[in-house]
Amino acid sequence: YHASMSSDCLFCRIVAGEIPATIVRETATTLAFRDIDPKAPVHVLVIPKEHYADVATLGQSDPELAGQVLATATEVAEAEGLLADGFRLMFNTGGHGGQEVFHVHAHLLGGAPLGPMLA
Ligand code: 5GP
Ligand code: ZN
Repeated sequence: YHASMSSDCLFCRIVAGEIPATIVRETATTLAFRDIDPKAPVHVLVIPKEHYADVATLGQSDPELAGQVLATATEVAEAEGLLADGFRLMFNTGGHGGQEVFHVHAHLLGGAPLGPMLA
C-alpha cells in the first residue's frame, strides 16, 4: 500500500503491479515502461512512483523527485542507445498540452529523426 496511491489512476495501478507493463527500468522512486501505443521506435514513459497529477505539481512539490525522473529518463536513453543521435523528453501538461493520463509522465522518444516538435 502506498499512501499517495490512487486506485483509479492507471499509472498508480502499473506501479502497484495491478496492470501489466513492459518495465525497462525501476528505481526506489521511479519507474520506466514502454508506451502501449509507441509514436517512435523507442517510446518509454518515465514516472515517479508517487502520484502527482502533472509536471507542474511535481516540480513545485518535490523538485528532487522531478530530478530523479530526469535521471531515470537519461539512464533509459543511454540503455536504449539514444545518447549519440539524440532524443526528445516531453511532458504533456493539462488540456492545451494534450495530457490524457493525469499521473505525471515523461515521454522519452527516439530511435529515428523526430522532425519538428509541432506538426
Ligand atoms: P499523455 O497524452 O497523457 O501525455 O500520454 C499518455 C500516454 O500513455 C499515451 O502515449 C498512451 O499511449 C499511453 N498509455 C495509455 N494507456 C496505457 C497503458 O495502459 N499502458 C501503457 N504502457 N501506456 C499507456
Ligand atoms: Zn497515479
